[in-house]
Amino acid sequence: MWHKVRMALRQDTGDHSFDAWLAPLALVSLDGDTARLSAPSAFIADWVQGHYQDLLRRHFANQCPGIRRVVLAVAANGQVTAASRPLAPSAQAVQSLPVDARYSFDNFVVGKANELAYTAALTMAEPGAPGFNPLFLHGATGLGKTHLMHAIGNAYLARHPQARVAYLSAEKFMVEFMAAMRAKDTISFKHRLRSVDLLMIDDVQFIAGKESTQEEFFHTMNEIIGAGKRLVLTADRSPQNLEGIQERILSRMAWGLVADINPADYELRLNILQAKVATLANRVQVPDDVVEFLARKITANVRELEGALNRVTAFALLVGKPISLEFTRETLADLLRAHEKKLTIDEIQRKVADYYGLKLSDLLSERRAREVARPRQIAMYLAKKMTPRSLPEIGRRFGNRDHTTVMHAVKKVEELRGQDREIDSDVATLARLLDG
Ligand code: ADP
Ligand code: MG
Repeated sequence: MWHKVRMALRQDTGDHSFDAWLAPLALVSLDGDTARLSAPSAFIADWVQGHYQDLLRRHFANQCPGIRRVVLAVAANGQVTAASRPLAPSAQAVQSLPVDARYSFDNFVVGKANELAYTAALTMAEPGAPGFNPLFLHGATGLGKTHLMHAIGNAYLARHPQARVAYLSAEKFMVEFMAAMRAKDTISFKHRLRSVDLLMIDDVQFIAGKESTQEEFFHTMNEIIGAGKRLVLTADRSPQNLEGIQERILSRMAWGLVADINPADYELRLNILQAKVATLANRVQVPDDVVEFLARKITANVRELEGALNRVTAFALLVGKPISLEFTRETLADLLRAHEKKLTIDEIQRKVADYYGLKLSDLLSERRAREVARPRQIAMYLAKKMTPRSLPEIGRRFGNRDHTTVMHAVKKVEELRGQDREIDSDVATLARLLDG
């Protein structure tokens, strides 16, 4: 059976991902409705949990219909030592109404882009009647809406352990409701959802155009709000911009507090990455320049940012190499190419000269006075960090200098960044200017 599950997994994920993540898993036991697997490291266990849990559960259920849960543990020297969290059984979402314990307020990093949403979410989890209801969070994909929802659920449950909390996607709401209609059993569906203390429905844009689902959705909203229970909704846009949804639903949604989440700026991206790096196992060292590089380059959304970091750390562990800028560029080549705007050494030289009020010719000259030499070293450093050019090539472009001079400059600037706040902030500003 395990062999069949593995073959099916390989087919779904492709050889590469399968070999990297799923091949190392071993089946430990089948125990009632639970399959226990072991992974060779916490990292692989986490990754599998984050990326393949649904797939694993599905294939186990296919091969062995009694299996409902898949639990991963970390094996040390072939021994299973610490059991980690069970995987959330999403197949029975409406029955078990799960809140994902991985997402909390503590591991949500706050910045200008999301502080309104964050504050409103905190309020939703506080005791006493909230000053508004529902809470409607909206923003583009990958910016933390689902994270905040689960954080509300977890915080609320921590304060009210007996409370009934339901989280589900609007899509699931629709699918379950249609199934209930077909089975002529909408009563228990209604009862299940309308009897909770905190109801959270994610991605409500999915109910657009589905009339009977909208009808049910409207009554669910009314009942929850009318009973003084809490309702949290998210969508990819604001209520007034949602299309194909009944007017009365939209106005009901906008009744409470509508908070948006904006794309993270550089500072927030950096803080998020730093927070994620801090949670990595000790043996994964991610140098500062790599973190800055990722924060600069991966701007689309937080999910992609996280994915990039995961890919780099996972691959480094897999091949047993330290994480460097070089390594990061190679590992993420495909992702970066999509974002890359070609930065040239010329541009770097001109920007740095401008910034320090020098002439370009000074920067390339033989002069060794500190006010010229330092900016020159910084320009070399930036050329090394921000372009794929080699040390000898950079040397040539800086007035035919030797590659050891460039190497020395890179080391020197690295050192100075650790000691001198002003130089550090100059370099960071220049890097940002050059990124446009
Ligand atoms: P959305 O629901 O808006 O599409 P998610 O809540 O699924 O986005 O977030 C995508 C990923 O990014 C999740 O892993 C989430 O934990 C992470 N994330 C998003 N915003 C933050 C943040 N401010 N701090 C920490 N992690 C974040
Ligand atoms: Mg989401």
